[in-house]
Amino acid sequence: MKLGFSLKPGWCSSDDTESFLDFLSDAGVNSVELTLPSSGNFDHKTAEAALTRNMTVTFHIIWDSKASWDWYRGWNTETGRNGFDRLLNTLDVWAKRQKNPALVVIHPCDNGRNRQQGITTTVDFCRWLVERTTMKKHKVQWVIENMPHDPNVPSRPGDRVEEIDNMIKSMPGLGICWDIGHWHLTRSINPTWSSPLTNHFIAHTAHTHIHDYTSKLGDHLPPGHGTVPLTTALHRLHTAGYNGWLTLELDYNKALHFSKPRDVARDALTFVHKTWTSTMKTEIGHR
Ligand SMILES: [Zn+2]
Repeated sequence: MKLGFSLKPGWCSSDDTESFLDFLSDAGVNSVELTLPSSGNFDHKTAEAALTRNMTVTFHIIWDSKASWDWYRGWNTETGRNGFDRLLNTLDVWAKRQKNPALVVIHPCDNGRNRQQGITTTVDFCRWLVERTTMKKHKVQWVIENMPHDPNVPSRPGDRVEEIDNMIKSMPGLGICWDIGHWHLTRSINPTWSSPLTNHFIAHTAHTHIHDYTSKLGDHLPPGHGTVPLTTALHRLHTAGYNGWLTLELDYNKALHFSKPRDVARDALTFVHKTWTSTMKTEIGHR
């Protein structure tokens, strides 16, 4: 089973890298997700430590909304495109070293103002990236993540299932990172906000982010402590033949509400392991 853990801020400090990765590896984790700046200058120390433990590194563009906007700023200029060509080379070298494609999670472009413009920019940017990757035969897999709706932000491109569905329909080669917590959060705030999940959406899911949500504490909580229907979601993925990473994406500070960080992480990993295994058993039982 392909279990991943996102090293969001707080989980893995620089003086604790080796011991935290040992802990994850012992708990059955075989992938860690790292932040990727558009410069390509990711945390090599952690990546190398993961590699020596036979873990695959997946990447996520910077979370901060301003920094993720940086990814899109100037991409369509000669300097910007040269920069992304260098990034593609860096990722391809890493993919060869880890003997697994370098998967990169992208957030839709969000300038906080114009939803349609954000989507158009995302589509143009991703199309160029995917075409460039295919042309140069680089082992890089790009996936676009569905965003959580934020009632305080009038425009949040990518918080609707149909938006993500439509984006990837026009771009063969681009996959979906189904953030199950974001998806549930959006529907909890307004059940009519997003259309139902489609078979197309599930079939094109190439990566997942798993976390729980409550209206009080918000999202990125350890699974089993909120209202996200994770068993149903994982079952749906399993029956569609999903073979990507099951990546936990937990907020470190929120985890402290529940227990000691490593206990929270261990319980969360056990939850995902048990839930995924039980969907497999259900499957066999139905035959
Ligand atoms: Zn996510």
